[in-house]
Amino acid sequence: IVTEIPGPKSRELEARRKSAVATGVGSSLPAYVVAAGGAILKDVDGNQLIDLGSGIAVTTAGNSNARVVENAKAQIEAFTHTCFMVNPYESYVEVAEALNRLTPGDHEKRTVLLNSGAEAVENAVKIARAHTGRDAVVVFDHAYHGRTNLTMAMTAKAAPYKAGFGPFAGEVYRAPMSYPFRDNDAAGTKLSGEDAAKRVITMIEKQIGSEYVAAIVIEPIQGEGGFIVPAEGFLPTLVEYAREKGIVFVADEVQAGFARTGKMFASEWEGIVPDLITTAKGIAGGLPLSAVTGRAEIMDSVGPGRLGGTYGGNPTACAAALGAIAAYEEDGLADRAGHIGEIIVDRLTKLQSKYPEVGDIRGRGAMIAAEFVEHDSIEPNADLVKKIADYCAKNGVLVLTTGTFSNILRFLPPLTISDELLHDAFDVIEAGLAELLPA
Ligand code: PMP
Repeated sequence: IVTEIPGPKSRELEARRKSAVATGVGSSLPAYVVAAGGAILKDVDGNQLIDLGSGIAVTTAGNSNARVVENAKAQIEAFTHTCFMVNPYESYVEVAEALNRLTPGDHEKRTVLLNSGAEAVENAVKIARAHTGRDAVVVFDHAYHGRTNLTMAMTAKAAPYKAGFGPFAGEVYRAPMSYPFRDNDAAGTKLSGEDAAKRVITMIEKQIGSEYVAAIVIEPIQGEGGFIVPAEGFLPTLVEYAREKGIVFVADEVQAGFARTGKMFASEWEGIVPDLITTAKGIAGGLPLSAVTGRAEIMDSVGPGRLGGTYGGNPTACAAALGAIAAYEEDGLADRAGHIGEIIVDRLTKLQSKYPEVGDIRGRGAMIAAEFVEHDSIEPNADLVKKIADYCAKNGVLVLTTGTFSNILRFLPPLTISDELLHDAFDVIEAGLAELLPA
């Protein structure tokens, strides 16, 4: 159902864009969207594209999910906005209650609602610093936490996110991540999760001193880093260490949260109970909303009126979130994520047996990445990944590239995608590889 991408109308819009929109807002595929449903995007030229990226994990419950649309519409008709800090409304409290209930751990929790993932991470750090009276924040290689000044400091990769935008917020220290595909010693032995955690603990003790550390902030499965799943034992060891030292352990689940990995939160895979969890993206099915949820005694160390903002937890986004959360809880989307992941891994494994360039397949649930390497080594192969993504886009399949070395394709389709559509998308990827890597 693809004629030409980009088609004539998209090309015309792309020309207008150049004189109206800041260059810094990048775009890889100029196919201007006019409608979407589930995992299908329709563009201005009548093309239909299969979305394997969910707008980066936002439309996890499917684009324009009926529950989200219905709730948001009803809310807009009732009232469009009041600032919760000035004129409160029930849906904010309901979203907070839902997050307190759904996030790992049975302890008493509190939630603050905000607008974006970066803002949630900023607030988690503010709260951790206020609670501990300490300054230092420990983050990880390959991490991505946003584009505000502090979250740029916390993000690993300079270009395109940080280069030229400094100086950044201080007291941010970067620790080595557990990256099983690349953590081999000369003999090829894998670094265990516990040893990778010890490497982090040594770094903290020697370079900072745990008594100065307010927070350890980590994505339990890294998103922009390339769906890096740390080795087993890495996260529990760090959580235990943080608890011992009075450090607030923050799981950034902005990309991995909400049924994406086959569980409501990725932290559950390792059985960890973070002190604070940041969420956004999938939380409201497309409307801007984010949250920090965590232990009552930590969250409440910040006094009244000190958190929030005009739009944080706005009524329309909260209504949408209640729809999205109902979808995650009642429509079996976590199980669906598991099933989707099996299909993706199966299709990728078949490709890997043919093409050694598919170096690593990893992830959980419907958050699966393929890391591409050179034919005969684990050297990153960014060029091939760009070519595959371009081929897919031209043939109506949206696949996102990512990773520190830009050599990763990530698959995170809406959890409502049908098996058939997913197979159609992988047929295109397979054809692309056959064209790009002739035998
Ligand atoms: N944290 C993680 C793990 C993310 O993946 C992202 C977005 N890619 C962010 C934070 C920032 O979210 P936002 O773009 O909504 O500010």
